[in-house]
Amino acid sequence: MTTTQLKQQFETLFDQEALETYFCPGRVNLIGEHIDYNGGLVMPCAINFGTWMLLSPNEDNVFRFRSVNFEETYDIGVQTAYEKTGREWFNYPLGVLHHFVADGKQVQGLDVLYYGNVPIGSGLSSSASIEIATAFAFNQYFKTDYTKLELVLMAKSVENNFIGLSSGIMDQFAVAFGEEHKALKLNCDTLDYEAVTANLQNNVLAIINTNKPRKLAESKYNERVEECHQALAALQQELDINNLCDIDGITFKQHQHLITDPTVLKRARHVIEENDRVKLAAVALAEDDLVRFGRLMYASHLSLQNDYEVSGAELDAVVEYSLTDSNVVGARMTGAGFGGCAIAIVNADAFEDYRKNVIEYYTQKIGYAPSVYATNISDGVHELV
Ligand code: ADP
Ligand code: MG
Repeated sequence: MTTTQLKQQFETLFDQEALETYFCPGRVNLIGEHIDYNGGLVMPCAINFGTWMLLSPNEDNVFRFRSVNFEETYDIGVQTAYEKTGREWFNYPLGVLHHFVADGKQVQGLDVLYYGNVPIGSGLSSSASIEIATAFAFNQYFKTDYTKLELVLMAKSVENNFIGLSSGIMDQFAVAFGEEHKALKLNCDTLDYEAVTANLQNNVLAIINTNKPRKLAESKYNERVEECHQALAALQQELDINNLCDIDGITFKQHQHLITDPTVLKRARHVIEENDRVKLAAVALAEDDLVRFGRLMYASHLSLQNDYEVSGAELDAVVEYSLTDSNVVGARMTGAGFGGCAIAIVNADAFEDYRKNVIEYYTQKIGYAPSVYATNISDGVHELV
């Protein structure tokens, strides 16, 4: 759907023109997986797929939320607080609205239309995308003066406290602070970040959606968080650290005997070595060495597959195929795992071949087809003129 078509749809729905239009991207994490809740480094980037948000004020003091992607509509008056209304999509904008009014900000009724072309529920963070789109748009429209970082923290709080999902800061940060042709090397503990030039040269960032429902994701995610807590507690017997990522792979080897449970040991090894890989990956990007970056992507995938055990036949199939294709620089699962998406850096000229071949390989092995997109690293949330 084009912005023009969206504006027409807005007019049809609300009988008035859209006054402002915003776009917030989705994101992928290039490397640094299951790190954000361990106080380490991640390397996400914003992509050129995301969520459009169109708005205009109305005279009725009512928020009217509509989405091209969902049938349910929602109208609610201006109030001083809002509560979660079940698990429908409007809890995302409602959670943001709640934070504004709970902070005592003055708001007025708006007609709002969303449209997302980022696959929803596939680990590309359509949720952070709609949250940050809303927070950014409200901040601009209501002239509240939150900083971008405050909006990120607000959106994270919506996800954690209003929606009720325990997740780190990476997603909201990436879709807010993303920059074209840059990866964000972000320390999830201190929120220090550096925009590292990611010169993909003649390549595209391919996203391969396994189209597998992520049923296990939430329970397994919580299990991994708990295993990391156990590993940290064991290491703290000898080390003065607050997070697993406070140590590197060498220090870990010297102290790993403290972790007696072999499963917990594997989990900790993934986290600490993955954090080291992010540092190496940032250097590789800075030196324009995509081949080295690609190798680190493959190494990350292996570690997630074997030590962290969050991959699965579907994500593995994508990486297996990618390893055999000389037009691929690197590939790995991205996001929480158990389905969702994989990414691959693929020679732009060969993308159509890659697409065809990976679909064929995957379909033969898994029994249904993945969806494959060519994306670029893009800017974070912004107003469209
Ligand atoms: P992910 O963030 O991986 O895409 P989540 O389950 O965290 O998956 O978030 C998806 C939810 O976010 C959707 O089910 C819906 O409630 C909300 N959402 C995302 N995009 C839109 C949209 N364009 N319109 C309405 N709701 C959306
Ligand atoms: Mg999400």
